[in-house]
Amino acid sequence: LNVLVVGGGGREHALCWGLARSARCGTLFCAPGNPGIASDATCVDSSELNVSDNDAVVEFCKANGVSLVVVGPEAPLVDGLVDVLRVADIPAFGPTKAAAQIEGSKAFMKDLCKKYNIPTAAYEKFTDVEAAKSYIRSQGAPIVIKTCGLAAGKGVIVAMTEEDALQAVEDMLVGGAFGSAGAEVVIEEFMTGEEASFFAIVDGETALPLQSAQDHKRVGDGDTGLNTGGMGAYSPAPVVSPEIADHIMQDLVLPTVQAMKMEGCPYTGVLYAGVMIKDGKARLVEYNARFGDPECQVLIPRLKNDLLEVLLCACGAGDQALSEVELQWTEDSAVVVVMAAEGYPGAYKKGTAIGGVEAADDVDGVIVFHAGTANDTSGQLVSAGGRVLGVTAIKGDVRETTQQAYAAVDLLQWPEGFCRRDIAWRAIERLES
Ligand code: ATP
Repeated sequence: LNVLVVGGGGREHALCWGLARSARCGTLFCAPGNPGIASDATCVDSSELNVSDNDAVVEFCKANGVSLVVVGPEAPLVDGLVDVLRVADIPAFGPTKAAAQIEGSKAFMKDLCKKYNIPTAAYEKFTDVEAAKSYIRSQGAPIVIKTCGLAAGKGVIVAMTEEDALQAVEDMLVGGAFGSAGAEVVIEEFMTGEEASFFAIVDGETALPLQSAQDHKRVGDGDTGLNTGGMGAYSPAPVVSPEIADHIMQDLVLPTVQAMKMEGCPYTGVLYAGVMIKDGKARLVEYNARFGDPECQVLIPRLKNDLLEVLLCACGAGDQALSEVELQWTEDSAVVVVMAAEGYPGAYKKGTAIGGVEAADDVDGVIVFHAGTANDTSGQLVSAGGRVLGVTAIKGDVRETTQQAYAAVDLLQWPEGFCRRDIAWRAIERLES
């Protein structure tokens, strides 16, 4: 069975790594892929296939006998790639354009939660700045202001003072700070608690729970400094006990699957719930319509099942119904340490030489996933992005696994790179207490 993975980051490398190990996988393509993915899949670069051209993707699939497309990032989902593939009768793993709104529009997500009693922060929506300001004054700080549309993770202001909150709505609604994504804002209650991510696979009717993870968004040790796409992650998240996982499924995920069906846009693909946990209860912070990156890099290596078979079942093209699939996971924790280019998330240099990847990859229990790498004209591996490598380990409990990941990190020769040195601190602290 030939498979195409769309994307070229660490998430897609993890997906390709998993799919390539499937007994049923024929030729595995990845567009555009990257040099790390090239050891698991045939990379199709942008000169051969422009993945933002939906029709070109369909043509590629037809020409290459592709029987399943797995869409990694959110942009092609929001652009309707899955819709176009379905019209062409090509099974695709991911939500349709209408269903991807669950991530693409915070107003859609919040209204859905309100209508179907899915626990989340109280909120109001505004397009008028004066109305927004008077709401802020009535609620006080801390309070959270969000652009309604996608803003690459930057459209959320957690305002600790009323003044900052008023400034944020002024910037978004009057200053046009986020363009059309910020023409409507959601203002919501500030929730306290511990954040975690929970993933489920959905076939439109039902949901199969995957596992939990926690990521580290801030660039600096001790969760300090600027926000990033994620500097590391681990799975499972100890805060998500089996009881909490069950509660997330029963009270958040399954009602959402039903709600999406009722709204006429059944959800398919991975549903990623960002939750806030306090006093044994979880409330929804956000939904994403795809695997998290770097969380995917710690989920996939823990899965013992044949990944391709599971994804086919989710698309109604497998040997079983999704509801009959029984997933098995390693007991071992998985940890990923992200290696980023110096300067990230601000300005950083590209094209700096990276050595030692093979040695790091050879460390017992370690897989080095590539996120932003390229080969230069001489074939040297170089950096090509902000987040460059995901050094993943899976070996024992979270403390042992983290040590193994850092042992591999220390074999890398990349003076222009850096990583956080305290990934998984919260889980290790919990283990030691
Ligand atoms: P991402 O890049 O994580 O997808 P996003 O732009 O979709 O971000 P959210 O996930 O909604 O934004 O919010 C980003 C972060 O802001 C959350 O991970 C959380 O730490 C914080 N946050 C959001 N909403 C709230 C809230 N109501 N109370 C407290 N913190 C919040």
